[in-house]
Amino acid sequence: MTTEPPKAPPLYPKSHLLAASGIAALLSLALLVFPSSEVEAKRTSAPLELQTPADQLKQAQQDAPATDLGEQEAVQAPFAHIDNEDDQDSNTADAAAPAPVAKADDSDKKAPGHREVTVRKGDTLSKLFEEAGLPATAAQEVMSSDKQAKQFAQLKNGQVLEFEISPEGQLTSLHTKLSNTETIRLVRGAKGFAFNRDVIKPTMREAYAHGVIKNSLSLSGQRAGLSHNQVMDLVNIFNYDVDFAQDIRQGDVFDVMYEQKVLNGKVIGTGNILAARFTNRGKTYTAVRYTSKQGTTNYYTAEGNSMRKAFVRSPVDFARISSRFSVGRFHPILNKIRAHQGVDYAAPRGTPIKATGDGKVELAGRRGGYGNTVIIAHGKTYKTLYGHMQGFAKGIHAGSVVKQGQVIGYIGTTGLSTGPHVHYEFQVNGVHVDPLGQKLPMADPIAKNEKARFMQVAQPLMAQMDQEKSTMVASKK
Ligand SMILES: [Zn+2]
Repeated sequence: MTTEPPKAPPLYPKSHLLAASGIAALLSLALLVFPSSEVEAKRTSAPLELQTPADQLKQAQQDAPATDLGEQEAVQAPFAHIDNEDDQDSNTADAAAPAPVAKADDSDKKAPGHREVTVRKGDTLSKLFEEAGLPATAAQEVMSSDKQAKQFAQLKNGQVLEFEISPEGQLTSLHTKLSNTETIRLVRGAKGFAFNRDVIKPTMREAYAHGVIKNSLSLSGQRAGLSHNQVMDLVNIFNYDVDFAQDIRQGDVFDVMYEQKVLNGKVIGTGNILAARFTNRGKTYTAVRYTSKQGTTNYYTAEGNSMRKAFVRSPVDFARISSRFSVGRFHPILNKIRAHQGVDYAAPRGTPIKATGDGKVELAGRRGGYGNTVIIAHGKTYKTLYGHMQGFAKGIHAGSVVKQGQVIGYIGTTGLSTGPHVHYEFQVNGVHVDPLGQKLPMADPIAKNEKARFMQVAQPLMAQMDQEKSTMVASKK
């Protein structure tokens, strides 16, 4: 009774899989489900968007008729790095912002004494001062003026130093951009140089992405202009309703409203997903991000129901189901026909096992053929059991309170077991039920006294998403 998961076809260059880390890598694998061609994904964007070479390339791909996969992949290659970026922090610039060549701000007035020097490999500060027409002593003076001035000596290839020099040949100010958002500056005053740092906050705006899945969510998301992190966010939002490893089909549709970070007219990164719609096999799910008056943020359906369910389907993130729930099966060790009152998930020894719902640990110890076992009570109605563990997670003992997704132990093969797996049981009022067949109970919907406030957030977002979609569909005709 072994079910093999679908094998991911080699759609991506190896570097992609190597670069993505941990869960992301595994989930990426799961997302790359079917091989065929990909065309129908497009990003629309507000007027400030710049056309970069990557954008033009993307556009060219969208305009091109669908061809066989090999050709598509070849065109894909130049910006395949988009998904590779290990940007754990969604604040960093991502796919939406291919870095333009750094140029001094046009707004800066170029006074007669203005000099710009670009750092090349091997340059030192005194050499750059020399290039700007300043004596080496000026560099020393600058460096010793302030503790923080040393940051001017941490030179990066391509960095631009901007000098203002008086008619008498004296340096009056020096500044350089450390990043799109950060500039450091030294300005000469009566008492020598004063150091300051400007950090500009990017402005946030709403952006829209739309895609139709042709081969995988990963690829379609990329085509639609979403970063790898955003695709992962989308998966996490709809994870309770959609099985992204097995249920994604060609023709599934997604619409996303998200935050875009803009600085000086350039997109430099993305923020949160604000609202989304996902149509999987003809069934449509909605999600709206909402922060309660108390400050907790969750995603709810457009009607205000929780996206989060009281239970997740499986206690292991990525595992093979090695045996399903059944009323009678041949037991390999006991050598007789016996009911299997749970589901077995096979995974390597030591793989974390997570509580499928919030609850209180009733047992964390040995229990006969189950070996090392954890039993969790979830209120009065539900109980879950996890068997054959190698060991328990720190702090897990009878009486511990656990949260959904909290690691409670690790995959092992203790008790009557033929190999590393977790045996998972689900009980409703003391009766064993099939955890895979069970319709999962919902977590709490939006609080009554927040419903009106939620609707004020949700309705405009959903309306805007509809509008963006119809505009885009119309422009395609
Ligand atoms: Zn079992």
